[in-house]
Amino acid sequence: RAKECGRGQACFFDLEMDRQVRERRELEHDLRHAITRGQLHLVFQPLVATAGGTVMGYEALLRWTHPTRGSIAPEIFVPIAEDVGAIIPIGEWVLREACAAAALWPDDVSVAVNVSAIQFQLPNLAAVVADALETSGLAAARLELEVTESVMLRDRAGALDTLHRLKALGVRIVMDDFGTGYSSLSNLQAFPFDKIKIDRSFVSHVTDDESARSIIRAIVGLGRSLDLPVVAEGVETEAQRLMVLEEGCPQAQGFLFGRPAEFTLAGPRLRVVGG
Ligand code: C2E
Ligand code: MG
Ligand code: MG
Ligand code: MG
Repeated sequence: RAKECGRGQACFFDLEMDRQVRERRELEHDLRHAITRGQLHLVFQPLVATAGGTVMGYEALLRWTHPTRGSIAPEIFVPIAEDVGAIIPIGEWVLREACAAAALWPDDVSVAVNVSAIQFQLPNLAAVVADALETSGLAAARLELEVTESVMLRDRAGALDTLHRLKALGVRIVMDDFGTGYSSLSNLQAFPFDKIKIDRSFVSHVTDDESARSIIRAIVGLGRSLDLPVVAEGVETEAQRLMVLEEGCPQAQGFLFGRPAEFTLAGPRLRVVGG
């Protein structure tokens, strides 16, 4: 890169790289204190029956309000938290907060929590989940853990062991963002998931791209043969809802039904505000 800089001229690339490294270090540092400084909070997005729109549950989604940079997207800070290990305490915080919130909801409404592949490598994940359930009083059957295909790539034996322990507790395991990773069909057979969530990228093109629709159809077929319900993520329009319903997705999630929002208890039913 240095040779791109003219003689006697401050090297833009070096300065720019320097700035990025400093910024990244700062975020790494700030993330470690985000919990104790009260900068994290959860929002909840409904998961509904595709046909009638009945709310089946809510997915907990993490938000970080940085003191000087404001709101930072999880797509930016979760990978950093994973790199520096901060995802372990943060993930545990998310789990406990989500279970505590869901314990206040009606009995037939479940909560879905995203679990990082890093957390999945911890030998004590099942014990942490068991404790979060016990402390909150939430029934295990109301908790879904969403993992991505990357859990199957590293330490296979350990991941399988964790998966079995979690299932023994009675929680459901969901394969999130399916279709974007590297999982093989044999992996899907070896790992006893309870549900598949089709990645938003296929759903958003389902009405204008025949190949996206074919992929959804194939995933639903795969789900049928493995006896797994398939959820469509990222449904934004009525046309998309009808399309994924027709293709056989019993559950759906997306801005059409509700954006992620703070939750409040208003009367006997859960009401989502904001968004
Ligand atoms: P995800 O688990 O696949 O969550 C769904 C993402 O899609 C959420 O983004 C949600 O706001 C967004 N979404 C839902 N419906 C629609 C729609 O109709 N249109 C569009 N454009 N987007 C929609 P969000 O909240 O920004 O989270 C992004 C990702 O960050 C999540 O993807 C998940 O991988 C990660 N993440 C969020 N919270 C946590 C957490 O507590 N722990 C971990 N490990 N990862 C998390
Ligand atoms: Mg998810
Ligand atoms: Mg997803
Ligand atoms: Mg996604």
